[in-house]
Amino acid sequence: MASLGENLLGIVNKLQDLVFNTIGNDSLDLPQIVVVGSQSSGKSSVLENIVGRDFLPRGSGIVTRRPLILQLINVPSDNDAPEGSEVYEPHTPASVESQGEWGEFHHIPGRQFTNFQDVKREIENETARIAGNNKGINRSPINLKIYSPHVLSLTLVDLPGLTKVPIGDQPSDIEKQTRNLISEYIAKPNSIILAVSPANVDIVNSEALKLARHVDPLGRRTIGVLTKIDLMDHGTNALDILSGRVYPLKLGFIGVVNRSQQDIQGNKTLAEALKSESDFFKHHPAYRNMANRCGTQFLAKSLNTTLMAHIRERLPDIKARLNTLMGQTQQELASYGDMHFNGKEHKGALILQLMTRFASSFISSIDGTSTEISTKELCGGARIYYIFNSVFGNSLETIDPTTNLSALDIRTAIRNSTGPRPSLFVPELAFDLLVKPQIKLLEIPSQRCVELVYEELIKICHTCGSTELTRFPRLQGKLIEVVSDLLRERLGPASSYVESLISIQRAYINTNHPNFLGAAAAMSHVVTKKQENEKKKLLQEERERREKRRQKELGATNGVDGHEEEDEISEKAEGLPHRSKMHKSGRSASPHVRQNGTSASIAERIGQRAGSEMQFSAQANPKDSFLNYFFGKDGAPGGGPGVGQAASSAQNPNLGRHVSQSAEPSITQSIRRQEERNTHRSPAQQTRDEDYAREYDYNSPFGNNTEPALTDREAMETELIRALISSYFDIVRESIADQVPKAVMHLLVNHSKDVVQNRLVSELYREDMFEELLYEDDAVKKEREKCERLLKTYREAAKIVGEVL
Ligand code: GDP
Ligand code: MG
Repeated sequence: MASLGENLLGIVNKLQDLVFNTIGNDSLDLPQIVVVGSQSSGKSSVLENIVGRDFLPRGSGIVTRRPLILQLINVPSDNDAPEGSEVYEPHTPASVESQGEWGEFHHIPGRQFTNFQDVKREIENETARIAGNNKGINRSPINLKIYSPHVLSLTLVDLPGLTKVPIGDQPSDIEKQTRNLISEYIAKPNSIILAVSPANVDIVNSEALKLARHVDPLGRRTIGVLTKIDLMDHGTNALDILSGRVYPLKLGFIGVVNRSQQDIQGNKTLAEALKSESDFFKHHPAYRNMANRCGTQFLAKSLNTTLMAHIRERLPDIKARLNTLMGQTQQELASYGDMHFNGKEHKGALILQLMTRFASSFISSIDGTSTEISTKELCGGARIYYIFNSVFGNSLETIDPTTNLSALDIRTAIRNSTGPRPSLFVPELAFDLLVKPQIKLLEIPSQRCVELVYEELIKICHTCGSTELTRFPRLQGKLIEVVSDLLRERLGPASSYVESLISIQRAYINTNHPNFLGAAAAMSHVVTKKQENEKKKLLQEERERREKRRQKELGATNGVDGHEEEDEISEKAEGLPHRSKMHKSGRSASPHVRQNGTSASIAERIGQRAGSEMQFSAQANPKDSFLNYFFGKDGAPGGGPGVGQAASSAQNPNLGRHVSQSAEPSITQSIRRQEERNTHRSPAQQTRDEDYAREYDYNSPFGNNTEPALTDREAMETELIRALISSYFDIVRESIADQVPKAVMHLLVNHSKDVVQNRLVSELYREDMFEELLYEDDAVKKEREKCERLLKTYREAAKIVGEVL
């Protein structure tokens, strides 16, 4: 039994030593002894006696004002027996003064206090530093380790004593605060409560027992200590209490005599004190017979025994706890990665592994197969998709292809493109001239799309590091650098490809594109817009004209050709204006035209044909190109079935007249009017015409502005060109919206994905760089080393514990 006890003690010494020296905290929850009692009951004195050193501040006032966690660590003395036989050496006067002991404070790491008077002073200073100078108490503990061959490795906690009345800086609830503080320490099941009560105060008033009873109602882990036995009234003794008849505690009561205040002032040594204590019990008539169960030495032995029993009880828990700690530490260590690499091959393999992981993390982030997909924000591939569809898509959508083109710009373009000759109809060259710069508007958003994806890829490569990679900041930096270089290299080709996509679009304006509105449809588009206003206006004009003509016809010869007749019929039938009439009497029919009747009638026929051809084209084949519209596909009018689904504007091409109430009359009329002017007049005449028109154009939106007003034809042409530009621009926009993302994916994203691994290997897998790349981050290195140390400690502790059972 004794050998087992010694064995256990050795084990606890080792465990405690191991745990305290390497870890610095009591992660194993090893047993500790907590001293409780009222103010000045002699707690500090008892502790001091157990330690065998005079180092605790003591006195009559409130002295202990912060918890003092005192870790006693048994260190073998120089002349000690070899390890394994180290056991607690009970205090003897001889051993008290021996050397090889020192104290260390947690708040002053590394400093060894060999002079215990300095230890005492430091406790006082440190108490004052936190708790102030005026009696206040503070719950933050002072940690002190005492290394000595003469102590049992155990933890003792000295606590402020219980007081009833606040003094000095103490708050009004000082009693409650102290009580809570004490309870906190003694409530732990691994603490043995040393309940100190002065013998000169009735035990029934003992605060210590009251507190201990609260947390240990069965009295299993409470040792009663009766101090100041020497101060009891003459004629009284503590025999009843010491024998356990007054208050039941399984571990019993032990009487002690500590140094009195006078002894302390008289510099009575601990050795002398222990001697006189033992003399006191040996010679006292009441305690003589039980002297071997009294005094500090017996208290130390009892604590020892109790502690061992306690340890035996706690060992399974400690074992389980050790296993948990080992598991946790191992896991933590694993997160820092395996550090036991040496030799070039091993290092190379590690670098290759980290590189591969980085590359595949880069790829999987883009592909969206990464295991660490954020749910908070879009990342990786999803961001790229978002850039393509939302950012790029929207920025293309918001471009208005004609917003920067004023009516005058368009007119200038039209004029310039016709050169010295007047153009027949809407000048194709002008459309070409105008639409090309507009396509250029797509370039900025397209290039921005390339840049955004590039930036996103750069971001992705910055987030590709694994925990293990953070160990090697230089390697991580290099990996990012190489991938960034790769991406930057690809930025050029992607960007210039996109640039050429735009140039390609500008190189050839495909008016044959199936989705292109075509002149006819554009015309009808323009017309639809104008229709409402013009219809009203024309109806009004026509009414006036008809009235005039009727009056004129009354006095005219009967030389009306069949054509006119037909017109007349249709006109009457429809109640709509006829072009030939309109051109004669309309405001755009200038005096020149009226003088040149023959030309006018030829032009009229051409106009009719062109008008009907336009109708036909618009219905039967809206995809017809521009030129087809102007000059006809086969040079002959009609031939096709003049009826399309747009029945409202249906027309018989052979008759070349309108039978519908749609806007066609007004538009064909205006075409004819303009065609007439253009084909039969010199530019000079035309200009004069325009001046004339401007001067008399009641319809001019510019009125008397300094800006030259648009003629009717110009206004129509401008509208037409706008419609055509919009239509064509939509086609190009759609194509760019489709092609740019494809190009970016191919040239930038996929290419980078494909070559990243090879690039990393070729750039970084070089033997002469291994050392440099595997430079470890200091902080991580320290953490890992700490972890390794912990694990080693826990393993040893587990081994120690394992040897016992
Ligand atoms: P604490 O406040 O509980 O820590 O009490 P201390 O250990 O500071 O002791 C208070 C005072 O009582 C000090 O002056 C001690 O010298 C004195 N004292 C403590 N124990 C004894 C004892 O057993 N006998 C005598 N005569 N005085 C004691
Ligand atoms: Mg004290």
